[in-house]
Amino acid sequence: MWPIDCIEHKRDGMILSDEEIKRFIQEYTQGKIPDYQAAAWLMAVYLKGMTDMETTALTKTMAHSGLLVDLSSVPGIKVDKHSTGGIADTTTLIVAPLVAAAGVPVAKMSGRGLGFTGGTIDKLEAIPGFRTELKQSAFLEQVKQIGIAVIGQSTEIAPADKLLYALRDATGTVASIPLIASSIMSKKIAAGADAIVLDVKYGNGAFMNNKREARRLARTMVHIGKLAHRPTIAVITSMEAPLGCAIGNSLEVDEAVEALSGRGSKRLMQVVEILGAHMLVMGGKAGDDKQGRKMILELISSGAGLAKFKEFIAAQHGSTSWIGKHALTKAPQMYTAVSTESGYITAIHGRALGAIAMGMGAGRAHKEDSIDPMVGIRLYKELYEEVKAGDVLFTLYGNAQADMQDLARQCAEHIIVEAEQCTIPEPVVYTVIRN
Ligand code: URA
Ligand code: CA
Repeated sequence: MWPIDCIEHKRDGMILSDEEIKRFIQEYTQGKIPDYQAAAWLMAVYLKGMTDMETTALTKTMAHSGLLVDLSSVPGIKVDKHSTGGIADTTTLIVAPLVAAAGVPVAKMSGRGLGFTGGTIDKLEAIPGFRTELKQSAFLEQVKQIGIAVIGQSTEIAPADKLLYALRDATGTVASIPLIASSIMSKKIAAGADAIVLDVKYGNGAFMNNKREARRLARTMVHIGKLAHRPTIAVITSMEAPLGCAIGNSLEVDEAVEALSGRGSKRLMQVVEILGAHMLVMGGKAGDDKQGRKMILELISSGAGLAKFKEFIAAQHGSTSWIGKHALTKAPQMYTAVSTESGYITAIHGRALGAIAMGMGAGRAHKEDSIDPMVGIRLYKELYEEVKAGDVLFTLYGNAQADMQDLARQCAEHIIVEAEQCTIPEPVVYTVIRN
């Protein structure tokens, strides 16, 4: 009997038909199937998995559960970029103006941070006056005029994902490859992208613990993209340590400006270069990724990327008078910690630092929590760098109530300095998955 037979089919490891998947998701979204049956179904998917065909049917149904953004009035190939979520990952704020400066239109809907990972919309809202809500017509007009607009994700985009994600969060069914792949790809497809560049993270600070799992997730999403006629590539990158040097919203905006001024940290810039290069290739502006990378470096050194960033911030009513003059971040309390030892940075525990920053007010535990844009952690050493006793390791930016010494003690435990460079350095970019 419907919908129990659909749950039983998946429980018994059968392959569901497109029709079954479509009907189940549609009826759940309409409230005809209760949460307890959907939860049982999600657990069956979690345990038994799905074929790429099933995952594609699920993705398409979720994408079509709400508004489909039509970007066809914007000339050019609209390439979207998505990261599976990381720490000190301000890549979007750097890459989007760079590729826009090269003529690839960026019409982006971004999310807010949840838990220990940040979100682009929260970062942009750290800029005084910046508007993340634009009417659809104003959004499209801005992309046509200056080549870039970034807004918060409409609640009308893939509402099935919103419901399913909340249920997964409460039932231990988040970390499933078909469920993550369909969640991400349904939103990208509904948001109107012609082509998609994914940054799939693995490691301590990511959903996927290791490279093998990240590769499976990446392959699944690239395959869905192909079946849905949205060319997709995935870059697999390390989240074993924070990507950049800033954890916290305003600090990450400052880091983006530094990066666009040619002073980006090494690990962050490696990811910026490869994602940007592939966006330029998919957008038809570069012949191959080698040329794309060269273009990205030139757009930074010429200042074209920074100029586009300023234009974009101003278009959305954000203040730009500080750019190139002083940092955006001003916190009531600052505390700088130095290394007591000499040696090498052998580990930086991003997830733990992200949790500390979140506790300071930089992130939210629940969707409705408010955040403090000015607080966070600025690191001065990257993974594998040499350190001398007395070198600055990090600065904390806290609110008026923060116990800075205690927070500094907690942070220091997660930045490991050892006498010997004992590990074999692991590159930040692992591999690229194409169809
Ligand atoms: N990001 C998403 O949008 N969905 C998931 O399921 C996981 C990460
Ligand atoms: Ca992010």
